Amino acid sequence: MTDIYGILGFPVGHSRSPAMHNSAFHALGIDAMYVPFAVPPERLPAAIASIRPLNLRGLNVTLPHKTNVIPLLDRVEPDALAIGAVNTLFFEGDKLVGMNTDAPGLTRSLLEAGLRLQGARVTVVGAGGAARASVVGLARAGATRISITARRTPEAEKLVAELAAAAAPAVLRVETWERAAHRRCMSETDLLIQATSATLDDGPAAAALAEALPLDALPDSAAVVDLVYKPRVTSVLKLAKDLQKQTVDGLGMLLYQGAIAFEKWTGQPAPIKVMQAALDAS
Ligand code: NDP
Repeated sequence: MTDIYGILGFPVGHSRSPAMHNSAFHALGIDAMYVPFAVPPERLPAAIASIRPLNLRGLNVTLPHKTNVIPLLDRVEPDALAIGAVNTLFFEGDKLVGMNTDAPGLTRSLLEAGLRLQGARVTVVGAGGAARASVVGLARAGATRISITARRTPEAEKLVAELAAAAAPAVLRVETWERAAHRRCMSETDLLIQATSATLDDGPAAAALAEALPLDALPDSAAVVDLVYKPRVTSVLKLAKDLQKQTVDGLGMLLYQGAIAFEKWTGQPAPIKVMQAALDAS
């Protein structure tokens, strides 16, 4: 019988995950199908309760459910609890378990791009969900110091207070949203992670953010990552390229968070090239 996997979100029609996972199932000859499920927030408990009776084998969870799903699960992995977001559900025997594959997905994409994370000094711009996943992922991958800067400094302070223990031994610190503080911070940064939604769709906020971040103060060897993948080359990445910095776009994180979920569900290595091609085409 065909195994059913899927993604719970609202809206979910834009998701590229079905294309990515269905191509992977097809390539490996696995009799399975991955389906988008549009679940409004008030129906999330009913949707989670239906996973067992419908015999669904594994799920991704996206906005707006990544946090609200946590109390509905039998167990949540420690990093997902620290991040405060679950994006993948799998069965461990009879228990429905939540994990976060965004964090290791990001670091795997950066390692695949040839970046050195062990000992890296990182600056994360933004203090939302993607920033939280980045901080935990990079700390696990061996970053020694992670500075967080957000336009609302109290949000950065909150993130640091909540994630300091999970990130140890990496040291977390807050950088204020000021030109002078940014310049000093950039000059001591090996890896800059743009984790705000400002660069999405390349609107006026994107240009303003690129203007606000003094990327010219980064060391020559620094790399710049933008987690936003629409467009693939955001205004921040354009500026970084102009400054001859190595750049990584957000599509790799999307790919590898999916690959890690696929491997968890099937126990097989994910066909990365096939999944990448499906993402590129979708
Ligand atoms: P959140 O809404 O949780 O957080 C957004 C963050 O961006 C907040 O800190 C917010 O600040 C900040 N922000 C928004 N607009 C601006 C601006 N104009 N200037 C400065 N800061 C701003 O979103 P997520 O963290 O979940 O996602 C952020 C982005 O990361 C998304 O656009 C998404 O596309 C991308 N992403 C990519 C993934 C991938 O697989 N590549 C995975 C997850 C996310 P404030 O609180 O002040 O509004």
